[in-house]
Amino acid sequence: MLADIIPGIANFNWHPSKYRPRPSSSGPTQCKRKLTYKALEYPERKPGDRFAVVLDDSSWHEELTCQWIEQSTFKLHSQQMPVTIPNALPWLIDYEQPFICNMCGETIQPGSLHGHIDGICTDLFFEDYLFEHKAINHFTFETYRKGAWPIDHMTQCVLYFEGLHDIQPELNKAILLIKNKNTSGYLEYLLQYDFHSKTLTILETTVSDGTIIDLGDPLPTFPNLFQDALEQFAMIETHRNAGTLPDRQYEPHEWQCEYCPFNDPCWNSLEITTEKVLELNDETTKLAHELDRLTEDRKRLEKEEDKLKRAFRLLLKNHGVQRAHGPTIDVLRKEEHRSTVNQELIPLDILSAARTTSTIEKLLVKPHAKTIKAMPTKSAYLRVINQ
Ligand code: SF4
Repeated sequence: MLADIIPGIANFNWHPSKYRPRPSSSGPTQCKRKLTYKALEYPERKPGDRFAVVLDDSSWHEELTCQWIEQSTFKLHSQQMPVTIPNALPWLIDYEQPFICNMCGETIQPGSLHGHIDGICTDLFFEDYLFEHKAINHFTFETYRKGAWPIDHMTQCVLYFEGLHDIQPELNKAILLIKNKNTSGYLEYLLQYDFHSKTLTILETTVSDGTIIDLGDPLPTFPNLFQDALEQFAMIETHRNAGTLPDRQYEPHEWQCEYCPFNDPCWNSLEITTEKVLELNDETTKLAHELDRLTEDRKRLEKEEDKLKRAFRLLLKNHGVQRAHGPTIDVLRKEEHRSTVNQELIPLDILSAARTTSTIEKLLVKPHAKTIKAMPTKSAYLRVINQ
């Protein structure tokens, strides 16, 4: 009653957002081609209803985490505070109009990079930390726990550091808190940013069971995240102006492509091939018709078999028996247990991570003139069965 309507409600008000450079889309693993499609205002596919619920869940996870933090000795404040880096995107200054941010209502000047921080955490010693929260699926969480860097989220933190620098120049540490939506475990990165060298360093990584992940010596540092992010936006702009697209960044079986709203224009354009056609001679034409005949016969026989099975099931059911006995043949109905995987119960992100795509080859024969074959009707069987 409710299960099937909730996802539809969650997705009811979906409408595509307008492209603009944002801190949340600045990382290197964001598909540049996808962002360019958006910048070029290609029509985008509406996300699946369940995906809308998954996205909404993430913001509620953040809300829940903030409630836990409020009960700690940390003080969380400045939540969703707007952050702007003026003139970060100089190539837009002459082309863009000022716009009003629909989150904070601020008027943003052309060429500015604008976003909102999740908050600032202040500890007992009045030291401030930029706070960034992410709620993610188990699969991605595990890749981070095993050593992959959450590079997009770190880039986002760097942009916020830069944006906050004028108003809070001493703020150079961040807590990037990543929540596993499946297990409710946390992974915390303590980050430090050097404004002079524009380098981000991971000082510490802690798992919610208290495990401190060995980061090695020297600590992992990332020198170019700010510059790389701006160059990425510049590159998308170059493509937008030229009406061109960057190379594909992912393969069709990867989740980035599976959930990409531009999957159709991106991959269907590859279908254009210069197909060569072989002329069949008399002999191979005959064989192709023979193959068509066999295929049609098989389909017809399968349909006939299916109809007869349904008729006999009905006969047994009408007489309340499992078995019918004849002089030379028996008909029996058996129940077998099969174990199957209900994909509906698997979280969307895990299902996607586990899915692989392979190419299968199909051979089809399509006669130019179709032969119509006579088929016995269902009622003919039923008449015999019911005698
Ligand atoms: S389908 Fe894949 S490669 Fe193409 S734009 Fe989307 S994410 Fe990028």
